[in-house]
Amino acid sequence: MKEEFKIKFWGVRGSYPAPGAGTIQYGGNTSCVEISAGGRTIILDAGTGIIPLGRELMKRAVQEKKHLELLLLFSHFHHDHIQGFPFFVPAYIPSTSLHIFGPGGTPETLQHILDHNQSAETFPVSLREMSAAKKIRSVSEAQIIIWDGNGIRAAGSDASVDDDALVIRIYKSNAHPGHVYVYRITYRGKSIVYATDTEGYAGTDRKLVNFARGADVLIHDAQYSEEHYYGALAGFPATQGYGHSTANMAGEVAAACNAGELILFHHEPAYSDEQVTAQELCAKNFFANSRAAHEGLDIAVISNTEREVKYVPHDRNQERRYPQPAIGH
Ligand SMILES: [Zn+2]
Ligand SMILES: [Zn+2]
Repeated sequence: MKEEFKIKFWGVRGSYPAPGAGTIQYGGNTSCVEISAGGRTIILDAGTGIIPLGRELMKRAVQEKKHLELLLLFSHFHHDHIQGFPFFVPAYIPSTSLHIFGPGGTPETLQHILDHNQSAETFPVSLREMSAAKKIRSVSEAQIIIWDGNGIRAAGSDASVDDDALVIRIYKSNAHPGHVYVYRITYRGKSIVYATDTEGYAGTDRKLVNFARGADVLIHDAQYSEEHYYGALAGFPATQGYGHSTANMAGEVAAACNAGELILFHHEPAYSDEQVTAQELCAKNFFANSRAAHEGLDIAVISNTEREVKYVPHDRNQERRYPQPAIGH
């Protein structure tokens, strides 16, 4: 199983945790996704889903008699993406080696944000007191994160990596308040794109479509129904401009970039299981190979060319239904 490339979802809710009888099927923990590639572990975001993941990683480390080496990537630092980190047990184990990357204006920004998140006023244990060996650094969109035989690093190019390298590219999106990083994780020719906390644009987010082109798995924000987004859902305000997508928007991106599979993510915490299932049906109208993420969902990444059921080819006319900008007057 050395070359396997897998995804496991540990937290799929957006905004805040949503435990209770109405959310049992999809789960109530906030954003956290585990990627396994050739025996290495990458964690996307540290919502409350990272808490059970931490316990599972500790169990595996004991069973395999190995020290943990982990790569944690933050899309951004809104509460639902960092609130689980102070409870991530492997970060308290001195033998753990933890590499953490995320957005930020200077290389030190990420360190400051995590320090602040555990300041004495708001949390009893400081970041320094979490005794794992930590390398924490903000990276820019131009950098490429590489994990190969020479370890984990952010570099300017992936020109000299070996066949077994994990290569992670970044798209800095403006489609969420304060920016968000979208990651494209490539291993042995297959790619996963993690695009959470992003709002669709009219005519689709063309930069995202280019960045995600041909991805074997696209994980995309699908927080709202169309009714909710446009202010027609009783009891909820319109959410246009909040920085989250509808299931239709996610489906449009998946179709436009010819993804292999679309996984709807960052479910609205106020939605019941039935409402999340309805989101899945909406996305399928745009992109047949869609499903809603649930806690515990485990996916082996298969390449588009190996897929038995071919995805429905994208109808290029879909893109043309939006008016093109007028040139001159
Ligand atoms: Zn979020
Ligand atoms: Zn956010």
